[in-house]
Amino acid sequence: MDQDKVLDLFRTSGALLEGHFRLSSGLHSDRYLQSALVLQFPEFADALGHALADRTRHMQPTVVLSPALGGIVIGQEVGRALGVRSIFVERQDGKLVLRRGFTLDASDRVLVVEDVITTGLSTRETIAVAEGFGALVTGAAAIIDRGSDPARLNLPMQALVRLEVPTYAPEDCPLCAKGIPVVKPGSRAS
Ligand code: ZN
Repeated sequence: MDQDKVLDLFRTSGALLEGHFRLSSGLHSDRYLQSALVLQFPEFADALGHALADRTRHMQPTVVLSPALGGIVIGQEVGRALGVRSIFVERQDGKLVLRRGFTLDASDRVLVVEDVITTGLSTRETIAVAEGFGALVTGAAAIIDRGSDPARLNLPMQALVRLEVPTYAPEDCPLCAKGIPVVKPGSRAS
């Protein structure tokens, strides 16, 4: 599946909006991504999972590890396509941890899967959890890489789409300067 096909699935399901948005961070942007909206459709989730599995099979993972909540659905789909376990880390007292009886050990080859990687911060934190159990992290994968530096993880990284989405402080926003009304994503345009 090429980049255009993936972005078509996002647009079709309303998971990629173009306009003028106020993000939850307070920053403004001309695009808004909500991958949960594309992953709600089983055929789209399945297709994206298979596409990522095809790109990562050579890493020979024995388990997929995803950060909750955003990574869980696509992690499950990639694990299913690869025929390996799929588990997730979640935040407890501000730290990502394995709970619910999920375990890793030194025999595990871990593929970290997320929906969207931006700074790579949660990816690195997820990698550190796996390494804390003595597992080998063989790579990372995301549907969309929003970062500018593909080498920032120090690890093989696969993404179906590379998409840099600029964000602006309201006072520096070129869309505000043009007088285009700003909307909060999720609210209906009238
Ligand atoms: Zn603006």
